[in-house]
Amino acid sequence: MSNYKRATLEEEDVSEVPGDTASSPDRVEVGFRKGGIDVLGRRTRLEVLLLVLLLVTLLALLACLLVLGLRFHSESGRGICLSEACITVASQMVEAMDRSADPCHDFYQFACGGWMRKNPLPDGRSHWSTFNSIGEQNQALLKHLLENGTFNSSSEAEKKAQFYYLSCLNTQKIEELGAKPLTELIAKIGGWSITDPWDKDNFMEVLKVVSGPYRAQPFFSVGVSADPKNSNSNIIQVNQSFEEPQICRGPTPKVLVAYLDYMVELGTLLGGEKGSTHLQMQQILDFEKALANITVPQDQRRDEEKIYHKVSVAELQLLAPAVDWLEYLSSSLSPLDLNDTEPVVLYAREYLQQVSDLINKTDRSLLNNYMIWTLVQKTVASLDQRFENAQDKLLESLIGTKKSCTPRWQTCIENTDDTLGFALGALFVKATFDKKSKDIAEEMIDEIRSAFKEALDRLGWMDGTTRQAAKEKADAIYDMIGFPEFILDPKELDDVYDGYEVSDESFFQNMLNFYNFSSRVMADQLRKPPNKDQWSMTPPTVNAYYMPTKNGIVFPAGILQAPFYAHDHPKALNFGGIGVVMGHELTHAFDDQGREYDKEGNLRPWWQNSSVEAFRERTECMVDQYSQYLVNTEHVNGKQTLGENIADNGGLKAAYHAYQSWVWKNGEEKRLPAINLTNDQLFFVGFAQVWCSVRTPESAHEGLVTDAHSPPRYRVIGTLANFPEFSQHFHCPVGTPMNTGKRCEVW
Ligand SMILES: [Zn+2]
Repeated sequence: MSNYKRATLEEEDVSEVPGDTASSPDRVEVGFRKGGIDVLGRRTRLEVLLLVLLLVTLLALLACLLVLGLRFHSESGRGICLSEACITVASQMVEAMDRSADPCHDFYQFACGGWMRKNPLPDGRSHWSTFNSIGEQNQALLKHLLENGTFNSSSEAEKKAQFYYLSCLNTQKIEELGAKPLTELIAKIGGWSITDPWDKDNFMEVLKVVSGPYRAQPFFSVGVSADPKNSNSNIIQVNQSFEEPQICRGPTPKVLVAYLDYMVELGTLLGGEKGSTHLQMQQILDFEKALANITVPQDQRRDEEKIYHKVSVAELQLLAPAVDWLEYLSSSLSPLDLNDTEPVVLYAREYLQQVSDLINKTDRSLLNNYMIWTLVQKTVASLDQRFENAQDKLLESLIGTKKSCTPRWQTCIENTDDTLGFALGALFVKATFDKKSKDIAEEMIDEIRSAFKEALDRLGWMDGTTRQAAKEKADAIYDMIGFPEFILDPKELDDVYDGYEVSDESFFQNMLNFYNFSSRVMADQLRKPPNKDQWSMTPPTVNAYYMPTKNGIVFPAGILQAPFYAHDHPKALNFGGIGVVMGHELTHAFDDQGREYDKEGNLRPWWQNSSVEAFRERTECMVDQYSQYLVNTEHVNGKQTLGENIADNGGLKAAYHAYQSWVWKNGEEKRLPAINLTNDQLFFVGFAQVWCSVRTPESAHEGLVTDAHSPPRYRVIGTLANFPEFSQHFHCPVGTPMNTGKRCEVW
């Protein structure tokens, strides 16, 4: 939980949209297939001839590049890099560009036009980007590791990961069981009126079971994590349950119809009679709409000083009396001993009041059905094909995917990453991660941190005291790179998953056991101090994040690779890639939410009032700027995306200046061949190409409603339009879209 307190680089594929993971894996699977055929053995003579021709053409191309390079060299006096890596990356970049576009008019089209033309959406996908394609390469590697016949690990946890994966792949067994595992579970909890008679007097019992050992979140969510006002201790936290009420907030009638159809189909697959299921599901849907209506939208919840309320369990009881909180929390955190003085942090005080009223005035049968429905949604992805088909239909309306073609193995890798991600991560880093990357990344972070601090001195709007404190906070930012060390020690890794039972038999049971296990882990954390080395992204993840309560930035191994970083790429590209990512995460410590936390990770005012005022004015400029951007006639929500936009702008600036310092110390580096860009220009094109992406109109709409990040196109355009050095290097006259004459700058 507390998802909004983790500022990420990229939208996370939340499992609320199940199965949105399909793609065509053939490209990345090559080379990992077991028992493959010898490369030349099956080639026809024509193929050999074509190969030879291809080789000759490539050699000719190389010669041309050489000649061009030499000419350029003699013309400009600068060198051209003709290493294999430089030639390869130059050719990929040229292909992704659209030279016919004017960089001062639409830089996104200029940098990504070719890429968008050559990358139509893969079947079953609602969006596709550089992030996805690296993610798929990582998945293919993991597939190979888990299916390797000689898998012989000394770690129990790694074996559990393999068992879990195999149980997920065993579709024969999953089909055999059908709906039975879930119908039995529902019966055990007390039933629901969709299929059976049910026990009418057990609201509290059902609430405790559904949200305790099975971790569903009807009405509200409960978790344990660091107390923002006392970051050295953990505390119970209660929040509204939808962070992103996508189904119910401003939905199109088409989406609502599809959602109801989905509910009815699931209900009948679980044994309900069609007519009565339809009637009851309509009631559940109306109840969810009522919940959505009292849910506070993200853009009104950004000021954590305002939404944080620490109360005791007794006070919570008075606030929201529909639930017996001591009984409920004691059960969720069993076997801990709680009493009504136990502190709880609320992030949605008014919501909890209102949800309590709503519970009190709603029919018990409907409340029961709604709670069971949240459990059905939580578990349905582990059932047979009929359930998957029902989900596919829903996704088509929701995010516009045409059909699901996710190969089963890919879904299973994702599921394994969700449950045993650090065991899987151990396999991943042993196979891929170069230890040297950690030192290089650390060095780059320091260069970017220095650039960020130097820029602080040039900010006219900040007073001296706050400036000094901001520098200290920047210095205190703690970094975690690649993976947590414990995963390479089999004993420590096994301890983390100790008590989680996994068999290669029942996928459904493995999943239930995991929910159960994670609820015990949550209880175990309450009386311990927060673990500084706890990671909330697994090593193969292609993303990064900032944790305000730790004042820490995290870069999993998954993102420390091309196109973000490669040791043999020009520095301009590494700074434009992973450098901007680093600057982005670092700037989160100073965005509208992160700035409220001090260098120790505590939510407390540490700014002078005059600078708070000036900061607000500066951020208003960005709210207005981004709110003007349109996606298919809909506006970007400048408030909802403010934190990410501040991070994008600050990140680009810090990375660019860090690159300038690098050049100043080391001298101008060689240019890439054939691309006809200066190294400064290359930095900007490299940055933009990280965000090349395509998506369906439905998914673009969904992103506008739910994502804290601006759409990729405006992450590029908005940031560069604010950056004078960009206009200077691309010679963009004032009045062009990329140099409008009005710039916003916060950091
Ligand atoms: Zn971010």
